[in-house]
Amino acid sequence: MAKDNLPVVHVINGRQKKLLQGHPWVYGNEIERVEGEIADGELVTVVDFRGRYMGTGFYNSRSLITVRLLTHRQEEITDALIAARVKAACDYRRFVMQREGTDSCRLIYGEADRLPGVIADRFGDVIVLQVLALGMERYTQVIADALVACEQPACLLLNNDDAIRIKEGMTCFTKVLHGALPEETIIHENGVKLAVDVRGGQKTGYFLDQKDNHLFLRQFCRDARVLDCFSYIGGFALNAVRGGAREVTAVDISEQAVALIRRNAELNGAQINAVCANCFDFLRAQVKAGEKYDVVVLDPPAFTKAHANMANACRGYKEIALSAMRLLPAGGVLATHSCSYHMPEDVFVNTVLSAAQDLHRQVRVITLRRQDIDHPVLAGYPESHYLKSLWLQMLD
Ligand code: SAH
Repeated sequence: MAKDNLPVVHVINGRQKKLLQGHPWVYGNEIERVEGEIADGELVTVVDFRGRYMGTGFYNSRSLITVRLLTHRQEEITDALIAARVKAACDYRRFVMQREGTDSCRLIYGEADRLPGVIADRFGDVIVLQVLALGMERYTQVIADALVACEQPACLLLNNDDAIRIKEGMTCFTKVLHGALPEETIIHENGVKLAVDVRGGQKTGYFLDQKDNHLFLRQFCRDARVLDCFSYIGGFALNAVRGGAREVTAVDISEQAVALIRRNAELNGAQINAVCANCFDFLRAQVKAGEKYDVVVLDPPAFTKAHANMANACRGYKEIALSAMRLLPAGGVLATHSCSYHMPEDVFVNTVLSAAQDLHRQVRVITLRRQDIDHPVLAGYPESHYLKSLWLQMLD
């Protein structure tokens, strides 16, 4: 037992390096042995094979990520420490919240805010909180109170309705913890209005990681014919309209999402053709019909949640890139995304560029972007950089 009387997890030789570099996870197969009585969700001390202190975190035998570290230095884990982390997280987001016409951002981004498994998104006056790691469950009220104190929202909704919770040994539910949930939640992102479904939508209701890429799109859209594939509730499409597009089409497979694209077009007085379809089929049909666009956006869901499916994922990214390029004449712009951590940036870029090669088309890279800065990347924890955003121009 260590001085603080916590059970001790000994990590196998070779895995101390990543922990020293700041990685916050210990996988089950990295544990050599456990000393003391351990219960799921309880605090443990982690030491390396020589017994050197590596950190303190939560243990959960049901999760592949068996220990999630809260600290790499010897400090006691208290309510005050958790509340201070929440405050620091909110303080950092002032950078984003001072953007003109923006009232929404990610306030807590899990491990990158040293609050493992905790997500909090601010949607205007509503904060949506998710707790996805068993060890953090008991701090839910502490986190909620700190969020309310820092941000003074009209409503705080605990949306613990994510399948990951079942894997972690928890139940799924949603509950209003503060204030009352308005009938409709309308957010502002760089001056664009968006109705967001915080109860029944995907993830917390909206993908705040794309804010800055949405804005970036505008400059390519003057008088353009724009196609937004995997549009969700129309983030890129609405910004294309703002950028002066002459015609915008948004496609998503979810009927709920397409209904919100229509609502959002109306809220902004924008003309958008909202189509409910499978983008793989839709793109193929557009190619067959000989359609042409000036700008195409591809933003599919994660094709792979595990490293093992990489080859399949690459095929998926390549197929939609091939179709999109066929729709783009010389001068056309393609913005293509991967939101899967398991797809490394270089593999993704090479996959998309290989589509151009197959078509004997020359392209140039305009830029390679990532998730917005309210989703910062924790040093030593590459998993926190997941969104790749590759912008290309067709040269011929
Ligand atoms: N571009 C959006 C986020 C997209 S998330 C934004 O900027 O906010 C991915 C979207 O792809 C989800 O809305 C999901 O419903 C949709 N989707 C998943 N599979 C699809 C498919 N085969 N065809 C069309 N849409 C799909």
